Amino acid sequence: MECIFCDILSGKREGHIIYEDDLHVSFLDKYPIDTGHSLVIPREHHEKITDMDSIAVGQMFSLVPKIATGILSATGADAFSLGQNNGRAAKQIIPHVHVHIIPRYNHKGTIWTKRSIEKDDDLLRLAEKIKNSIT
Ligand SMILES: [Zn+2]
Repeated sequence: MECIFCDILSGKREGHIIYEDDLHVSFLDKYPIDTGHSLVIPREHHEKITDMDSIAVGQMFSLVPKIATGILSATGADAFSLGQNNGRAAKQIIPHVHVHIIPRYNHKGTIWTKRSIEKDDDLLRLAEKIKNSIT
C-alpha cells in the first residue's frame, strides 16, 4: 500500500521527526500553516480514528500536550490549535490518521487555508530545536 506517512515511518521517505516512541511518531508538517506545525501519527496504519481501537486513539491524543509544550517552547508561539480530519470531505489528504498541532502567534495574522513551503534546512533546524524542547 502506498502511504507517505508509512514511508516516513519505515525511513523510505525523509521526515523531520521531533518525537517518537514505540507506538507514535511526530514530525514537522512539510507544508506548514505556521512555523512549528507538526503532526502526531500512530505507527500502525489506519485511515481514520474510527478505524482505530479507542485505547489507541486515547494514547495518541494523550501525547499531544507534551509535544505541544515542546513546540511552544521551541518556537515561542503564543498558543496552538489542534486539527484532526477524517475523510476526504474533511480535507484529509494523507489517508493515515494524524493530529495537527498548529502553533499560533499573536503578531502574525496567519490565514488558515494557506500553506507555506519551507526550506528543508529550516525544517531540519526547527525539528532539532523542538526535539530538544520535548521533556
Ligand atoms: Zn500509513
